[in-house]
Amino acid sequence: MRIAVDPNRCEGQAVCVGLAPKVFELNDDDEIVRVIVDEVPEEFEKRARKAVEKCPMAALTIEE
Ligand code: SF4
Repeated sequence: MRIAVDPNRCEGQAVCVGLAPKVFELNDDDEIVRVIVDEVPEEFEKRARKAVEKCPMAALTIEE
């Protein structure tokens, strides 16, 4: 499973980072989150899916 971020939607509230810090990353000066893994490891899939669901801007998309 892969996750894509829509940079036009992401506002950097970092909800996703809070839910899945091994999958998403946001530095202090970043406004747009980065997906730090190419393929989401199986052990983080549940958290990553939760992050996609909870993103307030609907900026994340799952690519199976
Ligand atoms: S939760 Fe959504 S809007 Fe917030 S940083 Fe993550 S992708 Fe961006």
